[in-house]
Amino acid sequence: MENGKWKIETKKMNRADFEILNQTVYKRPLVYLDNAATTQKPTAVINALTEAYTTWNANIHRGVHHLSQVATQKHEEARQKTADFLHAASAREIVFTKGTTNSLNLLAFSFGEALVHEGDEILVSAVEHHSNIVPWQMLCQRKKARLRVIPMREDCTLDIEAYAALLNERTRLVSVAYVSNVLGIIQPVEDVIRLAHAKEIPVCIDGAQAVPHLPVDVQALDCDFLAFSAHKMYGPTGLGVLYGKEKWLNMLPPAEGGGEMIEHVRWDNTTYNTLPYKFEAGTPDFIGSYAFGVALDYMNSLGREAITRYEAELCRYLESQLAAIQGVRIYAAGHEKAGAVSFNVYREDGQLLHPFDVGTLLDRQGVAVRTGHHCAEPLIDALGVPGTIRASLALYNTCEDIDALIRALETAVAMLS
Ligand code: PMP
Repeated sequence: MENGKWKIETKKMNRADFEILNQTVYKRPLVYLDNAATTQKPTAVINALTEAYTTWNANIHRGVHHLSQVATQKHEEARQKTADFLHAASAREIVFTKGTTNSLNLLAFSFGEALVHEGDEILVSAVEHHSNIVPWQMLCQRKKARLRVIPMREDCTLDIEAYAALLNERTRLVSVAYVSNVLGIIQPVEDVIRLAHAKEIPVCIDGAQAVPHLPVDVQALDCDFLAFSAHKMYGPTGLGVLYGKEKWLNMLPPAEGGGEMIEHVRWDNTTYNTLPYKFEAGTPDFIGSYAFGVALDYMNSLGREAITRYEAELCRYLESQLAAIQGVRIYAAGHEKAGAVSFNVYREDGQLLHPFDVGTLLDRQGVAVRTGHHCAEPLIDALGVPGTIRASLALYNTCEDIDALIRALETAVAMLS
């Protein structure tokens, strides 16, 4: 362990900007390792929310008055910042939603209405979050279509050969996570997209765990859709993004009706707004989008690649320290990960220590991790365990956090064995 190097990098990552981290839990310093669930917010983002409500709050797009125009401009600037962050071809391709779940539901409904018919197939993978399963199941039920599952190999990676064999003339869409929220592994989405595109099948990427950690470039990746949440990347809760290539978004019908998404409303013929407003019925979270733009500025100021590099090193350190503990089983061990490692602990007699018990004992020592099925029950069932313990990282975590986790884990294991 090159401790000196870690410390230098950590300093650059501005932990001091996250005031919430500076507290004790059960009289122990808080060690927050539940970032895949949600990240903490830097002071700049918290201040942005206060600034917006105290100086320019007014509903957007419809007002001729000054505050409304300021608010509209801030919201649209945030959309452009998001497009730039993803290297999207145009801000028209950025639909603001309530989060990843909302983005995927919007897409499943809209895409399904227009382009899925009886007997068609949708492909998802065996390691998906429920948000990337259930909306597609609902669509398939509605349309009498078939949801097919790309299997994973023993080592928890996607079985690309099986995937290639599943693609056929009935496949309408493929939807997979870039980074598994349970395993942290980076999936070969480039291959997934290339193989689907060879058959002119569009691909949706669940980027909830990827966009916070990897410099995702939608044009380089060539994905057709990408869904993610602001709250997992230092932004506010209640806001998300559905990126879609303009040609697809133009083709799809709106998923919800109401204000903002219309051009004209007539009893006999209502016409819809241009992109992206066609998909944004009602008052959007314009305060949230503004604060999200500040979060993106924050990430850009630290350097996207520097964040990726730092977190990858930290993740390797986390995995190596966990692997050194007797009885720890790491899932997808040795595979390149972004931001999360899942594991379980077994006693010498082979008995699994229940992840909930371990998590509770970690919490009592100030260490916040997540235990359970992580909203991915099919994957957890396939692993044959009641759940896992997941430690997940953000740019403000340090080697010291990981050392604290390891010490607390050793104590927990000793107590339970
Ligand atoms: N997909 C993945 C891979 C996730 O990790 C999550 C959040 N745990 C979601 C979807 C859902 O995100 P949200 O709850 O913000 O809608």
